Amino acid sequence: MSADDKPLNFLEQIIKKDLEAGVHPKVITRFPPEPNGYLHIGHAKSICLNFGLAETFGGECNLRFDDTNPEKEEMEYVEAIKEDVRWLGFQWAGDVRYASSYFDTLYQWAQHLVREGKAYVCDLTPEQARTYRGTLTEPGKNSPYRERSVEESLDLLDRMRVGEFDEGTKALRAKIDMAHGNMNMRDPILYRIRKQEHHQTGNKWSIYPMYDFAHGQEDAIENITHSICTLEFSDHRALYEWFIENLPVPSKPRQYEFGRLNLSYTVMSKRILKRLVDEKHVDGWDDPRMPTIAGYRRRGYSAASIRKFCNMIGVTKSDGVVDVAMLEHAIRDDLDKNAPRAMCVLNPLKVVLTNYDENKTEVVAAPGHPNREDLPARELPFGREVFIDADDFREEANKKYKRLVLGKRVRLRNAYVIEADEAIKDDAGNIIEVRARVIEGTIGNNPEDGVKPKGVIQWVAVHDHAEFSVRLYDRLFTVPAPTGGGKDIAESLNPESLTLLKNCKGEKGLLHAEQGQGFQFEREGYFCRDAKLDDLVFNRTIGLRDSWAKLDN
Ligand code: ATP
Ligand code: MG
Repeated sequence: MSADDKPLNFLEQIIKKDLEAGVHPKVITRFPPEPNGYLHIGHAKSICLNFGLAETFGGECNLRFDDTNPEKEEMEYVEAIKEDVRWLGFQWAGDVRYASSYFDTLYQWAQHLVREGKAYVCDLTPEQARTYRGTLTEPGKNSPYRERSVEESLDLLDRMRVGEFDEGTKALRAKIDMAHGNMNMRDPILYRIRKQEHHQTGNKWSIYPMYDFAHGQEDAIENITHSICTLEFSDHRALYEWFIENLPVPSKPRQYEFGRLNLSYTVMSKRILKRLVDEKHVDGWDDPRMPTIAGYRRRGYSAASIRKFCNMIGVTKSDGVVDVAMLEHAIRDDLDKNAPRAMCVLNPLKVVLTNYDENKTEVVAAPGHPNREDLPARELPFGREVFIDADDFREEANKKYKRLVLGKRVRLRNAYVIEADEAIKDDAGNIIEVRARVIEGTIGNNPEDGVKPKGVIQWVAVHDHAEFSVRLYDRLFTVPAPTGGGKDIAESLNPESLTLLKNCKGEKGLLHAEQGQGFQFEREGYFCRDAKLDDLVFNRTIGLRDSWAKLDN
C-alpha cells in the first residue's frame, strides 16, 4: 500500500519526521476496537491506516480490544473482529491484547493519583454531578467531597472495588479544575461502579475504568508511539496528556486525530447496525447488505478492493461524506480485471431452434476473460433448445432495442446468430416459448447474406446447464443520509434491497463454483457464490454500470 506515488498524508509526514529525528527507534501503532459489534467499513479505514503506517515505516501494529465496558461486549465480536482484520490482510504484532488485562495496573495508577492528591472519591449522584459540572459558558463548582483525605478516598476506592456500594453512589474522579475551559478537564470520572460480569475478568471487579482513564495508559503500557483516533477525541487530548504526565507510565505516546469515514447511503455506527440485526431488518451482521466487513466479504468484495478504497479516500484532518459509488467503483474495477466470465439467464425463456437437428449437440468455446489468458477457457454445450432472458425478446421493438425481435436477428454470445420467427403464448397471452432459426456458419463469422445482428445476448443450453437461486442486492437505504434530519433509520430502509430469484439458469461450469468465488455474469453484473449456504446460490456483488467513474473521474 505504501508503494504508490501519492504524497505523504499528514500522519506519514509526522512519523517520518519523528523517525528521522530519532524521537522513536520504531513506530508502534494500534487498532483498538470495542468488541460491541462487528467491524464496519469505517473501521477498515482505521485498520488500513494503523496497520498501513506500521507497514510503511517498518514498525508494528497491535490489536487491542478496548473492553473496559462490561455490559455490551461479547466474545462473538472478539472472534469476528480478529477474522476481519486478518481477512483484510493484516497481522497484529504478538498476541491479541485486551484493555482488561491492564485493570490491575490501572487500579494501582488510580491509587497513585489519590495518594498524590490528584483524585478523590466523590459521592455526588450522577444527577448532582451534572449540575456541578457547569456548562460551556459557565464554570463548574467543586464537589463537596473534593477535599476528602487521601486515606478516606483510598479506603472508599478499595471498598468500591470489592462491591460494597451500589452503582451510581460513588465514583473516583480526577482533581483537575472545575473551571477549565475544556469540560473534559472538570474533574472527570476515572472509575464507576458496575456490578457486571466481564467476559475476560469474570466477577473480579465491581468497578470499571472510564475510556479516558484507560485508553492513553494502555497505549503507554504497549509503548505505542502514535495513538491515532478520530476527530471527536480532539477535546479529550488534553486529558489524555494529563494522565500521561501525572502517572508513572513507561512511555509517552501522543494522540493524533483524523477524519472518520462517512459514506452516503450507509450508516456507520455499531449501535445502529446492531439494531438492524436485532430487529431483523437484515439477516445477521454478515448480511451482504450490511456495511460490515463480514457483509462485504459475503457480498463478494475482495479485501484488495477495500484496501484500495481506503487508500483512495486518503487521510485528512476533517470529516466528510464519501460517495458510496466510490467504494462500488473500487470493487467493480477489481472484479472487471479479475473475475472469470460466465453466462447466466436470470429469467429464462425457452427458444427452440427449429432448423437445428434434434439429435445434434455441439460444444462452443468461450474465453475465461476477455484479456486474461491465465483464466481457463470455457466449453459451452449447445443444442436445439436454449434459454435466453425473457427481457431479451420482444415481438416488436424500436431501433434502440438491440436484442431479439420477431423477424430480426441477434447473436447468441460465443455461438450462432439466430433469427426469431414466432412467439408461442399461453392462454393468458404470456410468451412461453420462441421459435427461431440458426443462421448456418455464423460461429465466429457474420452471416453470409450480409444481414448482421444488432446485438449480442447471453444464453444457456436447455439440455445441459446449472440451475441455482440468485439474490439481487441493492442499497439498504434509499436516502444519502439515513441518519440525517432526525429521522428514524427504519423509515429510510429500501424495501427492495433484496430480490430472490429462483430457477435461474447458468452455464454448467457454475456447478463447480467454489463458495465465495466471484464471476462476471455477462450483461448482468458481478456475482459470487454464497460462502455460507451449501445450496448453489449466487449473490449479486454489484451491477455493471459505474456511475462514479463516469461522473467524477
Ligand atoms: P461505532 O460508533 O461504530 O461503535 P467506535 O468508534 O465506537 O465506532 P470502536 O470500536 O471504538 O468504534 O473503534 C475502533 C477504532 O476504529 C477507533 O480507533 C475509531 O476511531 C475507529 N473508527 C470507528 N469508526 C470509524 C470511521 N467511521 N472512520 C474511521 N475510523 C473509525
Ligand atoms: Mg465506541
